[in-house]
Amino acid sequence: MIPFSPPRIDERTIAEVTAALRSGWITTGPRTKEFERRLADYCGVPNVIALNSWTNACELVLRWFGIGPGDEVIVPAYTYCATANIIVHCGATPVMVDVLDDFTIDPALLAKAITPRTKCIMPVDIGGLPADMSMCMRLAKEASGRFEARSPMQGKLGRPLVLSDAAHSFGASIGGKKLGTQADITGFSFHAVKNLTTAEGGALALNMPSPFDNAALYKHFNTMSLHGQNKDALAKSQAGAWRYDVEFAGWKCNMTDLHAAIGLVELERYDAETMPRRKAICDRYHAAFANDARFIAPVLRDSSREGSYHLYMLRVAIATEAQRDAIITAITTREVSVNVHFIPMPMLTVYKNMGYRIEDYPNAYKQYSREISLPVYYDLTDAQVDTVITAVKDSVLEVMGV
Ligand SMILES: *Cc1c(COP(=O)(O)O)cnc(C)c1O
Repeated sequence: MIPFSPPRIDERTIAEVTAALRSGWITTGPRTKEFERRLADYCGVPNVIALNSWTNACELVLRWFGIGPGDEVIVPAYTYCATANIIVHCGATPVMVDVLDDFTIDPALLAKAITPRTKCIMPVDIGGLPADMSMCMRLAKEASGRFEARSPMQGKLGRPLVLSDAAHSFGASIGGKKLGTQADITGFSFHAVKNLTTAEGGALALNMPSPFDNAALYKHFNTMSLHGQNKDALAKSQAGAWRYDVEFAGWKCNMTDLHAAIGLVELERYDAETMPRRKAICDRYHAAFANDARFIAPVLRDSSREGSYHLYMLRVAIATEAQRDAIITAITTREVSVNVHFIPMPMLTVYKNMGYRIEDYPNAYKQYSREISLPVYYDLTDAQVDTVITAVKDSVLEVMGV
């Protein structure tokens, strides 16, 4: 069976984690701080904070911005549930917007969805292809005139925050620039199936405009991630530095040095090995599917953006949802693992129960109903890619008769 997305774990990863274990310091410490510095260099921002998941990292952002009941946060309907769940955690309302054929949020519908209660816009880079970030920033700035600030941070910014869900798109670029400097805050995920992994983990690239101080914000998120305690374990471990205070009832979502050890190895070989291999795999799929009328190939790059090659989101042009499901069964019979990214949120029980209806998001449904994500990972060989291509084409022929 060809797996869908196993992590790349080799002797270097094992050696680095072992070194962290042997160092005697296993929670947040020198390796996490080094990982953060290198992430900041990579993204071109002064400050990055590494935490234990995208979910907790981005929830801290919403809470720091004072988002709560009565507030609206705009998200695409086509994303993983985490994007909207954190809004629900804060007691605010996810406002879902339909997507374009490339799976990113529809700018015209986004513009229409903005109200005085819109506190945050969260575009999602599905599959690693960046959403139109300059459009999101422009719409957020244009909304400043009718923005109703209800927290000190909202007052200070004077417009909706743009928090990019870049869970898939670490290393992607817009106009040749790596992601991190386009949105106010960019959130990455280092979950086991993502392009760059720490087993579980996430990070925020801080890019707030003045008068915000990103270094101070880094410190604040650090405190938020540690119960509101004003000293972390490393600082407390210094001689005589035992006394601490707790400034507010914070959360607990710091990254450990064991996880950072994996991340340091992943990051060091990301541009030289990981991305080129993923790109070669996606290009090989493209050569097989892009000019075959039965398929719609995903956008991997265009004149302004280059994706991270996280997912190869193929669509079977004329398949219904039931036919797509049958094709997946047929592919699985051929010993190839595939997936669907994603079931649009309005189709999930939790959001159906809140009154969202998939009928209001026709393009999200249309893209989802014929989507099949193919395996993409570092250790996948060209021969295996060819096996996947054959399995997909044979399965489509079996189910669709063409
Ligand atoms: C994986 C994912 C997340 C959540 O990331 P975690 O690190 O698992 O919390 C958020 N958004 C999208 C689009 C994702 O695919």
